[in-house]
Amino acid sequence: MTNPQESALFYPFGDTLPGPGASLEVAQGVRWLRMALPFALDHINLWLLRDVQDGLQGWTVVDCGISNDATRANWERIFEHELQGLPVLRVVVTHMHPDHVGLAHWLCERWSTPQRECRLWISGTDWNAARMASQSTTGFGGDSAARFFALHGLNDPAALEKVRARSNYYSSMVPQVPQRFRRLMDGMELAIGGRTWRCIAGYGHAPEHIALHSPELGVLISGDMVLPRISTNVSVIDIEPEADPLPLYLRSIAALRALPEDTLVLPSHGKTFRGLHVRIGQLEDHHEARFADVLASCRDHAQSAADLLPVLFRRQLDLHQTTFAMGEAIAHLHALAYAGRLRAEPAGDGVLRYRTVDS
Ligand SMILES: [Zn+2]
Repeated sequence: MTNPQESALFYPFGDTLPGPGASLEVAQGVRWLRMALPFALDHINLWLLRDVQDGLQGWTVVDCGISNDATRANWERIFEHELQGLPVLRVVVTHMHPDHVGLAHWLCERWSTPQRECRLWISGTDWNAARMASQSTTGFGGDSAARFFALHGLNDPAALEKVRARSNYYSSMVPQVPQRFRRLMDGMELAIGGRTWRCIAGYGHAPEHIALHSPELGVLISGDMVLPRISTNVSVIDIEPEADPLPLYLRSIAALRALPEDTLVLPSHGKTFRGLHVRIGQLEDHHEARFADVLASCRDHAQSAADLLPVLFRRQLDLHQTTFAMGEAIAHLHALAYAGRLRAEPAGDGVLRYRTVDS
């Protein structure tokens, strides 16, 4: 959902964005790239960090873009004009979603030499999840996803058919994931270009998302955990149907309050901003308000996740957005049900509905 209080955040670069094939320096040795995405969310930000590895000057890339010709062409222009003639030394990926890990395989292969492998650095959980998803149907489409959405009240046959047909959704954007990786973990410190970047694990959005913080630069590469304009997608998906990701997400962002308020936040979508604590507060308020909406809606009549889409989203959604919205609606229902504030009422029609428990 679009942030109604975006004006409380500060954008130090105003409306300036890196153009296609170009980069913009946002801190010393840190460059911002922006690549197009073929969704309603139409871009992703990637980062170039000036680095030295094994005495070799070059760059660390953070996140990759999806696998398609346009993104590869964009990268080729970056290689030609933005790297000062230096190589990519390693590829850090914040998490396993297609727009982040899609081209990791291509980048690592493109920049490996007989002397030195350009390595993927990612959390172990997300490496495994990405490897599996690129080889099978998980969470993003296929029969199991369609059944899961139907259980939660999505009964439009055309929409369900599209979900069923979308079994290669992930692998179309992530055809391959590197066979070898270096494991990122919470608290791990990376030396990048002589500076320390600390890994901060976050949960609820991806299996084990890694954000990177440089205390010296006062910069946080927040990935998808904190975005200035839209709220992070926190979804229950069919492969983990009883999951309760919203409390995990809320705990993860609350922990980021330990970082200074004047931290420069580099998000994966939207613009580089200051106002980390303000944004965390806005996101907490946003979810509290959605919890209140759900409890109010489920008081008189038991509601399914699909019933709640107009309450929670209040706008027209395309199929891609509907599947994300369903996952998010279920996440809100689960959080409230696990907290004892809603009770599930399985109905004769096979749809799971929830009713508010009055305390
Ligand atoms: Zn993501």
